[in-house]
Amino acid sequence: MFDFEKDVELVHGDTPRFLRERKRMIKEQVVARDVNDPFVLAAMEAVPRHRFVHERMEEAAYDDSPLPIGENQTISQPFIVAYMTAALELRGTERILEVGAGSGYQAAVLAEIVDRVYTVEISEDLVIEVALRLKRMGHDNIEVRYGDGYLGWPEKAPFDGIVVTAAPDHIPESLVEQLRIGGRMVIPVGQKEQELLLVTKLEDGSYKKESRIPVRFVPMIRQTEKNN
Ligand code: SAH
Repeated sequence: MFDFEKDVELVHGDTPRFLRERKRMIKEQVVARDVNDPFVLAAMEAVPRHRFVHERMEEAAYDDSPLPIGENQTISQPFIVAYMTAALELRGTERILEVGAGSGYQAAVLAEIVDRVYTVEISEDLVIEVALRLKRMGHDNIEVRYGDGYLGWPEKAPFDGIVVTAAPDHIPESLVEQLRIGGRMVIPVGQKEQELLLVTKLEDGSYKKESRIPVRFVPMIRQTEKNN
């Protein structure tokens, strides 16, 4: 039998049921934990998270957890995406760098809010997949690059904000350099478990850092390690 909730396509594989699940995700996982930035909430409602996971994982796309995206990598828990995006305090005109494109979900959420998103991915398999996915979904303000995000994307710097979604064991100097004065970077730093740091670049080129919440990200891979 025809099921309106499941079988009607709103746009690009979105359905009324998935939209409802997204609204519930935002209420129960994001707003309930005090992330209230209206830009972030609207972006998370607009981006169909189930389109960023494998089809057989679709049903779990709105759960309160990270999900596998292949290559031993995961798409972050919705709350963490919301928290990191909100920490940048976006107003809509920014140019943002993301390190670790993964599934493209975080980039898509950012791209709903800001002018332009640059995202770097080190996995050859994932980078092809994510570039195709974002293009197919019509995100024409996201540029994807294959490479070591540890080095940032100097040609496109300075950035108003940087989101790092794999964990290095210290703050990469090159990323601080590519941040504009007053710009903010959210970055998980540490080994197995990390603290999410909010880094703000100061007038004199140095930075201040604040520890926000404990998080668990996959480690950041260095190109040099990969080639060895
Ligand atoms: N932001 C992603 C999730 C990231 S998972 C999303 O929304 O789906 C972490 C990603 O960082 C993985 O895809 C991994 O391949 C990538 N990564 C790890 N080290 C990296 C590096 N040095 N440069 C760029 N990407 C890196």
